[in-house]
Amino acid sequence: MPTLILKPKREKSLLNRHPWVFSGAIARADGQADIGESVDIKAADGRWLARAAFSPQSQIRARVWTFNRDETIDEHFFRRRVETAMALRQPILESGDTTACRIVCAESDGLPGLIVDGYDRWLVCQFLAAGGEYWKKTIVEMLAELFPDCRGIYERSDVNVRRKEGLKPITGVLWGEAPPERIDILENGRRYQVDVYTGHKTGFYLDQRDNRSKVAVSAKNRRVLNCFSYTGGFAVAALIGGARRVTNVDTSATALALARENVAMNGLDDARVEYIDRDVFTYLRACHAAREKFDLIVLDPPKFVKSKSDLKRGARGYKDINRLAFELLDPGGLLFTFSCSGLMPPELFQKIVADAALDAGRSAAILNILHQASDHPTALAFPEGSYLNGLVCRVST
Ligand code: SAH
Repeated sequence: MPTLILKPKREKSLLNRHPWVFSGAIARADGQADIGESVDIKAADGRWLARAAFSPQSQIRARVWTFNRDETIDEHFFRRRVETAMALRQPILESGDTTACRIVCAESDGLPGLIVDGYDRWLVCQFLAAGGEYWKKTIVEMLAELFPDCRGIYERSDVNVRRKEGLKPITGVLWGEAPPERIDILENGRRYQVDVYTGHKTGFYLDQRDNRSKVAVSAKNRRVLNCFSYTGGFAVAALIGGARRVTNVDTSATALALARENVAMNGLDDARVEYIDRDVFTYLRACHAAREKFDLIVLDPPKFVKSKSDLKRGARGYKDINRLAFELLDPGGLLFTFSCSGLMPPELFQKIVADAALDAGRSAAILNILHQASDHPTALAFPEGSYLNGLVCRVST
């Protein structure tokens, strides 16, 4: 098998089972591998370290499939990995009140660059790296077999990270029937419609499932402001939980239209709901000027920190919206605030939220620390897999 030999003293991260091999760590290649093919990784002294997928165009030159020398990368390998991943999600899918979840979560499920989300009887995949792309046909056929009720597998690899791998963004039906325009799903008993063709990610923010349920149990009789509402994930939860009214704010009219449909399909009273197509920063400032008050605010913004050089600017963004939100909460009010920036350390996020409260002149306490749902696990050797941080803060004065 073609082999990449590392520079001296560059084997540490692989010994720690981190799955990425950066181009700068590689001294030379022994043999020729094509894009996505399997290569062995060896230390400078010849010690075998891992078997990985070759990404000749990426800075992440190889992504590890296995740290077990005896494991061959073939159809059986992918079947074992997917079966293990499915077992982890079994309790969620067998609960009966949830029909959508992440089935394969890339590196953290030992399958770098592969995302598989299940929405009712449809699977939606993202092939983000060369290795998955190389094995796509095998993986798709195996998924169809492992999910006998599956009606179709759709690809949403329309993501720019593929360009770093020398792959073009691509979408389309991979197997079976084309999914309907809207797929109905259940999430802890809440009903949502998902647009897997044009929705964000593979269509829905599955990672917020548990946090939406937390909002549901806290929303009774509260005036809720749902910032960055997307298709109303938190709005439906708050209304089911008995919110007095819910104001959704998002700059996507399409997302707001689907939010309205989602409220209706749960039989909830639309008269209690507002849909505002506006920039959240502008809207929060306008509320402040008008002295509007809320009892529960959700801040679930898009990733503000996209690269390390973005950290300062992103931190300012988080601080601004959190300060404005604190100003709009009455005593006893709750703030559910999130960062989905993997590059934002949780301690720093907490510090930003604390500073925001201070600037707003409010005292508040953290009631809960929130994370992504358990179908988005973080392999201990791959801390980068942990990206969603949330705090529930209660304002006292
Ligand atoms: N809370 C949602 C997910 C939010 S995703 C859920 O539970 O499903 C982030 C959303 O923020 C997207 O819908 C995007 O359209 C919206 N958005 C991004 N920048 C914005 C801005 N400046 N003002 C308002 N909405 C914004």
